[in-house]
Amino acid sequence: MFVDAHAHLCDGKYQGEITSLVEKYRDAGVGLVINSGYDLKSSEKVMEQSEDYGDMFFSAGVHPDEAKTLDNRSIDRLIEILKHKKCVAVGEIGFDFYWNKSTEDEQIFAFEKQMEIADHLSLPFVVHSRDASKKTVDFLKDRKSLLKHGFLMHCYSESAETAKIYQDLGGYFSFGGVITFKNAKKDDIIKSILKDRILTETDCPYLAPHPFRGTLNDSSKVVFVAQKISEIWQKDQQETNKIILENTLRLFKKIDVEV
Ligand SMILES: [Zn+2]
Repeated sequence: MFVDAHAHLCDGKYQGEITSLVEKYRDAGVGLVINSGYDLKSSEKVMEQSEDYGDMFFSAGVHPDEAKTLDNRSIDRLIEILKHKKCVAVGEIGFDFYWNKSTEDEQIFAFEKQMEIADHLSLPFVVHSRDASKKTVDFLKDRKSLLKHGFLMHCYSESAETAKIYQDLGGYFSFGGVITFKNAKKDDIIKSILKDRILTETDCPYLAPHPFRGTLNDSSKVVFVAQKISEIWQKDQQETNKIILENTLRLFKKIDVEV
């Protein structure tokens, strides 16, 4: 089966058609989806959505763009959500110095606070890092005691050298539609990472893979990402999927799906 380790099926672009999105990914052979929150409201929504589907789990957290919204009240509610039986990670959290929608201080506070919460609840966390490579590396290196439950560099887009640092810190990496784009040149980076650290994702509704680039993405299209990984690894699809599923279950230990 295929796995979408990072999707936003809660996004308003889908206009309430969750049932058809689920049918579509199941028909495509996708057997596990992690629906990901990016603020308190979307975290509530992915929790509700995942309650209805055995093959859907969720992560909850406040994205760096929304860091300014994290206060004592939202932290308390977030912790309640994170204790849900289908919540498998904190995230997405991290740094975004491309959009700069929250100040650097707000982003630092939110990232660190949520890493501490993840550690306290024995959960892994999912990192969003954009235009923040050095800052993210240094931040994690300085907080090694908060990394023992693992972390995922989602939509990984940095160098092989930086990947080596995250890998040495125990990190996992997920790749999405970008690796299928023409001239993506991601093959060498993927080859440089240990096979037991690689996951697949869509980050839908964004980043639809080739040949759907620019259209509304959904979890069924993770198949194209997994096909690209199998091509890079020169392994057949079944073996590739088995490795990716094992990696996903090793990182997100709360997933209790029968596989
Ligand atoms: Zn995302």
